[in-house]
Amino acid sequence: TAKREGRNKYKFYCESMQDELMDKKEVEAILRNAVKNDGFILLYQPQVDVDTGFIEGFEALLRIKGYNISPLKFIPVAEDTGLITEIGRWVTRKAVEQIAEWKEKGYDTKPISVNFSSKQLQDTAYADFLRKILLEKGVEAEYFELEITESILLEKSSNTLEFLNTLKDMGIRIALDDFGTGYSSLNYLTFIPVNKIKLDKSLCEKFLELSNIKVMNSIIGLAHSLGLVITAEGIEDMEQYKRLKKGGCDYIQGYLFSRPVKSDEIEKIYHINMLDNIL
Ligand code: C2E
Ligand code: MG
Ligand code: MG
Ligand code: MG
Repeated sequence: TAKREGRNKYKFYCESMQDELMDKKEVEAILRNAVKNDGFILLYQPQVDVDTGFIEGFEALLRIKGYNISPLKFIPVAEDTGLITEIGRWVTRKAVEQIAEWKEKGYDTKPISVNFSSKQLQDTAYADFLRKILLEKGVEAEYFELEITESILLEKSSNTLEFLNTLKDMGIRIALDDFGTGYSSLNYLTFIPVNKIKLDKSLCEKFLELSNIKVMNSIIGLAHSLGLVITAEGIEDMEQYKRLKKGGCDYIQGYLFSRPVKSDEIEKIYHINMLDNIL
């Protein structure tokens, strides 16, 4: 039976490898096609001011037109294939254009946050590219926010700090995304130039337990003492909202207020009080 098990294992290994390979290849082909044929779309999810209920800004979230593939699946493929450079620039350009379009339509200007993969550090001209786009579209840097994760500090490229400081000097805001999922060593917060911490959904879920309220209060207190603002992510119910409000959290992003939606959907809620919307 040992032999049989061994053979089954081997077979299983081969099949799963091939599935994975085919899957990735397929996703890669879809990505290449989307890059060539304007096949991406950005959805926007509101970030709501906990105190006022009004929208403070939006996160841009990438989708592939005509496909139901999660970015959790296609972003790693984009990273592995190097396509992330071109895709990341497309997202950046589109988001800046959206800020300009809403400005033109007479809406109050609100910042848009864009996710920045650590792999995009390899795009060494990114900061120049961003500077040029902002200038071209007449958008002030303070309305563009870049979301990074702490994995950016692990990239072998030693220019990470230089890159982040260049952005900071340009007036770009930087948010630390997915806080609470990684090392969460708070030490680096003192030397990387971030303005905002985004508490991950998985961390926020823990705040529903009474025993974790002290942890929540400490994290929020620490961030505030460092001069940072806090956004809680993945908030789906009122109980969480109330607790985070009491704890002094600044902004909330989650299905409680809105899923990520197309820009024309955003236009319907741009100036409304999102608390009226749910109460
Ligand atoms: P993220 O940056 O942490 O984005 C937040 C994710 O949480 C989004 O998933 C959003 O739809 C989801 N979310 C927000 N509120 C709720 C909620 O109340 N409940 C639940 N269940 N989910 C909620 P999405 O759009 O699938 O994106 C997943 C991840 O893919 C993002 O996580 C980000 O890391 C990456 N991603 C998305 N767009 C881009 C992009 O343009 N560039 C890069 N590099 N990464 C991107
Ligand atoms: Mg994000
Ligand atoms: Mg996040
Ligand atoms: Mg507040």
